[in-house]
Amino acid sequence: MIKIAGAGLSGLTCALNLAKFGEEVLVHEKCKELGDKHGYNILAFKNYDLKDDVIKELKESGVEGLYLYPIYKIKKFSPSFDSYDLYSKRPLFYTVVRGKVKESIEQNLYKSCIGEGVEIVFGKALSEEDATVVATGGKRPSVVGCGATFKDINMEKNTIYLFYDNQYAPGGYIYIAPYINSATICLVCFDNKYFSKVRIFFERLLVENKIILDIIHEATRVHSFLGFADYSIPKVYKNGRYYVGEAAGFLEPSKGFGMRYAFISGFLAARAIAKNEDYDMLWRNYFGKELNEGTKLRKRLQQMTNKDYENLIQRFKRTSNIKDYAEDKRLLVSESKNQKTAMIVQRMVS
Ligand SMILES: Cc1cc2nc3c(=O)[nH]c(=O)nc-3n(C[C@H](O)[C@H](O)[C@H](O)COP(=O)(O)OP(=O)(O)OC[C@H]3O[C@@H](n4cnc5c(N)ncnc54)[C@H](O)[C@@H]3O)c2cc1C
Repeated sequence: MIKIAGAGLSGLTCALNLAKFGEEVLVHEKCKELGDKHGYNILAFKNYDLKDDVIKELKESGVEGLYLYPIYKIKKFSPSFDSYDLYSKRPLFYTVVRGKVKESIEQNLYKSCIGEGVEIVFGKALSEEDATVVATGGKRPSVVGCGATFKDINMEKNTIYLFYDNQYAPGGYIYIAPYINSATICLVCFDNKYFSKVRIFFERLLVENKIILDIIHEATRVHSFLGFADYSIPKVYKNGRYYVGEAAGFLEPSKGFGMRYAFISGFLAARAIAKNEDYDMLWRNYFGKELNEGTKLRKRLQQMTNKDYENLIQRFKRTSNIKDYAEDKRLLVSESKNQKTAMIVQRMVS
């Protein structure tokens, strides 16, 4: 019997795949109910810079049947509300719902696990020492997110809104992620000096940002949240145990995306266990390079001032399409030691 600590995305994906490989699996979840940790929250999968669509990657990781809402447009705003729109025929992001509602990704993953014969117990923590797979999420905050979900919002369909402003989101950004007629507004802070203040910044944002005010004018606030995510140099084995998702340190450091890494690392760990493959080599080959690039980009983003954000939006206006966006990014990242190039990296990835 393989024991997994944690029924988040990484733990459930690992369990699902182990069961498909014919293993007996028991998952312990310390919360009483599935989705307690994330509440009713809309999150996004980044898709614009992946070679293959993230749906294909999820299928290859054994995960199907999730409800994904495609995003074809990004609206980016500077602190002074200068803006830039980016369109694409291929989805730039997909948004998903987390939490207890029936369309949430954890509920659908849970159903697949039960269908494959995985046993899951709730309200019962499992110590790391007793687990074969540790999927317990992040330990320390590298990035803090504070936000709320609204129903009946007034915004463009299939569009993500992004705001840069260090006054509200130091070192980070603010996003509005829609899902049909709901949306989550979240302030993401990467500067640990301000972690204790993000709730205040968020409430101020809701009454001071004129675009957000218009979007939520007739909306109903249905859920509020404060959470953290954790990235570090990945450590995937310890004393015979396998670490997956944020428990291993898997989170994209420049923006804080973690769901894709949770799914894929869960799958790769299952492969390593069931087929006796080298998990360390598997994850390095899959996303070692992009995590490395993300770390370098984070260092640059950490230095951005509001004036830099104004310039950034000006420069984005001269980038006409997603192809330019992606190609420039690749070029710039590969030459990132060059000072001139480093400036454009900020332009392309922020
Ligand atoms: C506010 C916020 C917004 C985010 N937005 C995005 C986004 O838009 N896109 C994106 O890709 N990522 C986003 N992320 C990151 C993403 O949610 C995580 O990286 C991902 O959910 C990590 O999955 P996980 O399985 O590693 O951990 P978790 O989802 O944290 O799951 C860990 C589970 O383990 C349980 N547990 C802990 N200890 C024990 C124990 N000892 N025994 C049993 N159970 C235990 C916990 O209760 C929890 O259910 C966001 C994170 C936050 C906080």
